[in-house]
Parts: sequence; structure tokens; C-alpha cells
Amino acid sequence: MSSNKSPNKAQIDRLIANKKKHADRLTPAELTSRILKGDKAALSETITLIESKNEAQNKIGQEILKTCLPQSGKSVRVGITGVPGVGKSTFIESLGTYLAEMGKKVAVMAIDPSSEVSKGSILGDKTRMNNLAVHQNAFIRPTATSGSLGGVARKTRETILLCEAAGYEIILIETVGVGQSETEVHSMTDFFLLLMLAGAGDELQGIKRGIMEMADTIVITKTDGENIKKANLARAEYKNALHLFPASPNEWIPKVETVSSTENRGIDKVWRIIQSFDQLVVSNGWKAKERENQQVYWMNESVKAQLLADFSKTDGIQNEIESITKQLKAGTITSYQAANQILAYYKNGKTNI
Ligand code: GDP
Repeated sequence: MSSNKSPNKAQIDRLIANKKKHADRLTPAELTSRILKGDKAALSETITLIESKNEAQNKIGQEILKTCLPQSGKSVRVGITGVPGVGKSTFIESLGTYLAEMGKKVAVMAIDPSSEVSKGSILGDKTRMNNLAVHQNAFIRPTATSGSLGGVARKTRETILLCEAAGYEIILIETVGVGQSETEVHSMTDFFLLLMLAGAGDELQGIKRGIMEMADTIVITKTDGENIKKANLARAEYKNALHLFPASPNEWIPKVETVSSTENRGIDKVWRIIQSFDQLVVSNGWKAKERENQQVYWMNESVKAQLLADFSKTDGIQNEIESITKQLKAGTITSYQAANQILAYYKNGKTNI
């Protein structure tokens, strides 16, 4: 039957090897010019470079990134969070497809704190977003899974910049509403969307208050079938809850919307909300100012992270910390004095090199 037409394993391996060889041959300048033309393969290849643990490769990635920088920034960056099962990937599939069909270029990425710890992933399931994944206007980058959460955040920010240089106008960044990652995503996006389930126990208990305060819009998912009544009720409750928060300095009043991603209902409304938010913050100058603040924030975070990494690598620092901790516990020195002694050891180590 058709078996003689399908490529065998050796042929497939050869194809992959050729493809890889081809990519390896591309110079940084070629990769850059291809990215600027919207070439997905070059974009993927460069993201792999910036994610690489190999210093030389990483350096090439950084070089390309630097050249692409003037062409980046022109997008709406949307953070999307919510507990596992709330419907994030189904929503992104639906919103992403809606936008891609409209002719917009959409990039999707994810920050997944679970993947660090368990090496498994709440978000990185390959079978998700099947339709969007193959759409010509969409680019989906699976979760970066190596390094600390800080390292993953850096790669995601750099991926955003590369995607923008490749012409992606809407960047959707997904994260799970647990732990620290949503704060990171909030600090790298313009608009923050919180997905909530209706009637899942006490309406306002599901998610930390801090996350609700960060939300520019709350979307109640799965508003279909028997859920419709509950969802509309939840919508009224969340609207009331949002009124209790102090007004945002960006002049935006957070919205609450109901959607059914499986029935593609309400998706257009969410897009209109994002657009009106973008228009507002562009016209009142908030978007540009906030992006500047974000860049400064990440610069400071990078300095802290690198100092900390340098500190941890200092010869004998662990022993020093242990012995000073003993003195601290014995009550012979204060915490401040202990910290100063440890830092003195670190600084000495630097000057002795
Ligand atoms: P995630 O963990 O937040 O990414 O959630 P998923 O998108 O994987 O969805 C979790 C489950 O909810 C899946 O079984 C989906 O089919 C279902 N689901 C997602 N969106 C809807 C919706 O709009 N309506 C209904 N009825 N089910 C949905």
C-alpha cells in the first residue's frame, strides 16, 4: 500500500540532519535578516541560541537580539494566567485563531514554574493548541524549561523581542496562577488577563488577591451549557469585587467578561477590550512609560541574579556561612553583623584573585 511511499527512518534522519546543517551554516547576519522577514525557522533557531547553555551559542543569540532590537517593541504583550484546568490553552487557541484568521500575527509562549521542579510541565503539553500551531500567522514556542525561574523569564523576554522583530503584533504569554511566575509575567506584559471559573467554591478564594489586583480584565471561562447562569452571576460578583480595589494610575477600569472558548463566544469582546486598553495606554503615555520601568526593573533583577550567582560560586563561602550561622544561633552576633562578615569574606575573595 502506501508504505513504500513513506520515508523510512534513515531518510527522515538524513532530512533532519540536512535541515540542521543548513541552520548551522547560517551566519548571524543571515539569521537576523531572515527574522526581520518573518522567517519562523530562523526565529526558532535564534530562540534556541538564546536558550542555549553553551556560552558561544548564547553569545551569537545575544548578538542577533541586539541587531533586532530596533525593530522590536511594536506589539501588544498580553499576560494570561489562571489555575490549571481553568481553560487557558483552550482560550489561547480560540483567541489566537480568531486573531490569526483576521490576518494578525500572533505569538504564544509560556512560563511554567512547575517544569523547573518536576521536569514535568503543567503548560508545555505538546498536544495543546493544535489548530493554532499550524496556522501560518501563528508562532508557538514551547515553554523554556532550563535554568531558574529568573533564567526562564529572561529567555521569555528575549523571545518576545525576537518575535516582535519578526513582525508578531500580539504576544500571548501564558502562566499558571500559582507561585511567583504570574508576577514575572505581569512585569513583562502590557495587559494582564486573569481567567476564572464560575462557581468553583467561594468565588474569590480561588486566586490570591494580589493577582486579582494585577488583572486588567477578568475572563470567566466555560460560559456554556449549564454554566451560563453561574458565569453571569460570577461576572456580577467580580465586577463588585474589582470596584473595591484602588483606581489604577493608568486610568484603566478593569473589566469582567464571560467567554466560551469551545463555542467561540465572547472571544471577540475580549479582543475589543484589549484593543481599547491599548489605545488608552498609548494615548496617555502609560504604555511607553511602563515598558521603560519594566526594562529598568529587569536590569536590576539581572544585576541581583548575577551578583548572587557570583557570590554562591565564591570558594569556601558555604563553610563561612555555616560557621557564621552557628555564631548567629548562639547569640554572639546580630544578623546584620553576620551578614557583614559573610560579605567581607566574599569581597576579600574578589580582591585576592
Ligand atoms: P488549562 O489547564 O488552564 O490550560 O485548561 P485547558 O484549556 O486545558 O482546559 C481544561 C479543560 O476544560 C479541558 O477539558 C477543556 O476541554 C475544558 N474547557 C476549556 N474551555 C472550555 C469552554 O469554553 N467550555 C467548556 N465546556 N469546556 C472548556
